[in-house]
Amino acid sequence: VTRADRVARLVGERDLDAMLVTGLVNVRYLTGYTGTNGLCAVGPDLRLFLTDFRYVEQAAEQVRGYELARGRQDLLPEAAERLSGRIGFEDHHLTVRQYERLRGLIPAGSELVPAGGLVEELRAVKDEEELAAIRAAAELADEVLESVLERGLVGRSELEVARDVDRGIRERGGEPSFPPIVAAGPHGALPHAEPRDVAIGERTLVIVDWGARVDGYCSDCTRTFATGDPGGEAEAVYELVLEAQQRALEAVTAGAGCRDVDGVARDAIAAAGHGERFGHGLGHGVGLEVHEGPRLAQTADCELAAGNVVTVEPGVYLSGAFGVRIEDLVTVTDTGCDVLSRFPKSLVTLGA
Ligand code: ZN
Ligand code: ZN
Repeated sequence: VTRADRVARLVGERDLDAMLVTGLVNVRYLTGYTGTNGLCAVGPDLRLFLTDFRYVEQAAEQVRGYELARGRQDLLPEAAERLSGRIGFEDHHLTVRQYERLRGLIPAGSELVPAGGLVEELRAVKDEEELAAIRAAAELADEVLESVLERGLVGRSELEVARDVDRGIRERGGEPSFPPIVAAGPHGALPHAEPRDVAIGERTLVIVDWGARVDGYCSDCTRTFATGDPGGEAEAVYELVLEAQQRALEAVTAGAGCRDVDGVARDAIAAAGHGERFGHGLGHGVGLEVHEGPRLAQTADCELAAGNVVTVEPGVYLSGAFGVRIEDLVTVTDTGCDVLSRFPKSLVTLGA
């Protein structure tokens, strides 16, 4: 069963005649195509891939199992010619303008039906090949940070360390899956801190959040380090976050509620009086995108399935003082989870 076959099955279940896929990540997932202009359409008897002249050769090499067709730079007219009936479209990718145009192009009597998330639903469950790429990305990321930390943290700027991580990933043949975060002391209290050109001091906590991309697939990991004794409160918060993270990892298994897994970590942190200081969801899916489904959060209404790849990343942020976040990347299995992040999690102290 190909990925397109699985889309065709969902198309049938939703009483659609075809699904028009315009989001490039979804197009890549379904066809293998990595160019920047292309779309595909899938129905019971339809496997159509469209691109313009610039990408025809690339598509011929990459795309398998689809009829290849060439359109103008704007591919919607050619797509519309081939579609009729109830046409599912990606309402989270198409702009309002594109939607209006497409509506004017499809045959009379046909209908555009919002079906955003259909391909993402399939993407949430990874196959062996995808898992191998994610595992390779996680390993590469671990290796890079290990070598970066050999140069120490104290006295180097957050930006220098972040650039080192970036360079290390590229030197090993990957790309960063997002710009690395390095945030020391009070700066670490901002969950999405951007690295500054400010030297990292002694006796403080430093959050490093980094990931690599290999064969299109991402990794994502966070560790919090100490540069000398960070003080009793910082140590206590570190132990609390680690405990919450470990409990949440134990709760991850196929069939577990995404909200419940989030709740395990959230309750542990709230019980210690820091509930208000854990202001984000516990985790997110990772794959071709560094943030995808399923989400682990109080607002998430889903169940984990074997083959999901998710992060487990509780954090506690004390404004003006420091932040702690510990993030692992895991594969959900029928009996629990496999942790892909191998970096140690006890509080590591790094000097100059
Ligand atoms: Zn992260
Ligand atoms: Zn993350």
